[in-house]
Amino acid sequence: MRAVLSIGSNMDDRVKLLKTVFDEFSDDIIAASPVYSTPPWGVEDQDEFLNAVIIVDVEQTPLELLHRGQALEQAADRVRVRHWGPRTLDVDIVEIEGFSSNTDELTVPHPHAAQRAFVLIPWMAADVHATLAGQPVAGLIGMLPQADIDGIKVLGRIEEL
Ligand code: ADP
Ligand code: MG
Repeated sequence: MRAVLSIGSNMDDRVKLLKTVFDEFSDDIIAASPVYSTPPWGVEDQDEFLNAVIIVDVEQTPLELLHRGQALEQAADRVRVRHWGPRTLDVDIVEIEGFSSNTDELTVPHPHAAQRAFVLIPWMAADVHATLAGQPVAGLIGMLPQADIDGIKVLGRIEEL
């Protein structure tokens, strides 16, 4: 089963937290974007988010994959510095090939992916031909406000950070 994961962190050791996801899926990764920074939006006393997209091929059910991501989120919460503070680690399933779901526990394709520059731009970097619900991701990026696109800055490959 091929799946697209969007990962993000805006806690202090953001690179380390993102690396826990790359490590967990190291045997399953087909393609990965570089890491991008996204400026904090609205709430300004937060670090920038770091975001990346990973495309994986796993021998698991969609819910098993969701739970695998949630286990990483929970491990990250253990090192959270500030209660109620910024987000340590978010692992979202953007899309699963040949599968859709519309429950609270798992909504796939992810309902907000089409509007999120920090999902679409890394996704296209990982897979230039990516489509979301039949629409080319490149075209979806073209529909985003320019300011959203300008805010997303590439930092480098995870191994280099
Ligand atoms: P968000 O990612 O929307 O900022 P959370 O990560 O806190 O918010 O949301 C977690 C909840 O979202 C979990 O209960 C999980 O079951 C549910 N969920 C529904 N669809 C998905 C998905 N595609 N990927 C990850 N979690 C999802
Ligand atoms: Mg989430």
